Parts: sequence; C-alpha cells; structure tokens
Amino acid sequence: MIQFEALFKISYGLYIVSSGTKDRGNGFISNTFFQVTSEPPRFASCCNKDNFTASFIQETGAFSVSVIHKDTDPDIISRFGYKSGKDINKLAGLNIKYGETGVPIVLNDCIAFLECKVVQTIDVETHYMFIGELIQSEIVDDTKEALTYLYYRKTRKGAAPKNAPTYIDKSKLGADSKRVDFKKFECTACGYIYDEAKQDIKFADLPADWVCPVCGSEKSDFIEIE
Ligand code: FE
Repeated sequence: MIQFEALFKISYGLYIVSSGTKDRGNGFISNTFFQVTSEPPRFASCCNKDNFTASFIQETGAFSVSVIHKDTDPDIISRFGYKSGKDINKLAGLNIKYGETGVPIVLNDCIAFLECKVVQTIDVETHYMFIGELIQSEIVDDTKEALTYLYYRKTRKGAAPKNAPTYIDKSKLGADSKRVDFKKFECTACGYIYDEAKQDIKFADLPADWVCPVCGSEKSDFIEIE
C-alpha cells in the first residue's frame, strides 16, 4: 500500500532557486534542492519542465539558491511559490546580486546563498533534475534559522503547489477527523486551507479585507472544499 501521509514525514528545506541574466531572470520556491556529493560539492535541484526558470537554467547552464528564513515575507513566498514568471517579473524591485556566472541571486529574506554550474541534466519526465557544481557560497545572515517545509506546512499552513515534485492530490489523503458542522475553504492561489474546525471564526464571518495568511490572496479567491 501507499499511505501518502507518510510522505509528509520526509523533511525538506525551502529555497528560492533562480537563473537568468541581468536582462531577464526568474526564480521559484523549491523544496527539492539537496547536496549529492561532497568532493566535488555537487547539488541537485528538481524543476518542473513547465517552470519558467527551467528554460533559464538550460540557457545559462547555471542557477543560484537562496536559503530563506522562517519569517520570510509572505509576499516573497507568494511571488516565487505561487506565481509564474511568464506573467510577472518576479525579480522586479527586489534586492538582487549577480553571481560569477551572471545568474541573479535573491537576497531578500536570504540567510545564505549558493551558486552552481550545471554539470548534468537528468530528464525525470515531468521534471528536470539539474546537477550543479558549487562555484560560490556565502552566509548573508547568521542570526536567523532556515525555513523548513515542515515548519511551512505546520506553522505557516502552506501547501505545495501543483508544479512541485512533492505535490500530493488531497483526494489521496485519508479522512482526518471530519466534522460535519465545519467547512473547509481552500486558497486557489496557494492551496492554504482555512479549516473552520481549527479556527475560532467561521469563514463567512471573516472581515471582507481578510487575506490568505500564506500568499496574501483575497477572501474571494477561496473556494469551499468538501
Ligand atoms: Fe493563499
């Protein structure tokens, strides 16, 4: 059997993976970035083929990774996690530096960054797995803790978007203490679920200017789910 809840026990970090040039670049939030060898230091980053950043990584043969902290601005998570660079310039107005390969490195809410040169690309059907060799890394802020996927899910109540390698269709999850008098509402932008059973206020009673605590979408962007 496959119990999909078991997959939530796997721990991950959350990072902004970016690529491109000074003229045009993009980034996305990834939890599937990890070190694969120590000598030489090589890292893997999984990226959906539909992801706008994938084309920049292929063109430049390089990418940067910004490690973000626990209190990262919801706008940064919304911008990089739930919006497409095909629609907006995600890097506009941010604190960006450019790496040795020329790729953008996002410094907002960043505690450390890495820059990697792609040495291998593995086609894993829906995604590419880019293997990158480390060419530079630096600590930006040593006072804050890195954001983990678990913290993001449990404390900030975020969910993986459809493009993420670790996305799980909710219909595959078992019924967890369903109570008929409470309803659930899902943010159509980020997947955050407002569960009345766990809140003090019914969704309908929330003020009109209430926004999604994860991505900042408006109340009208929520739909009721069963
Ligand atoms: Fe949201």
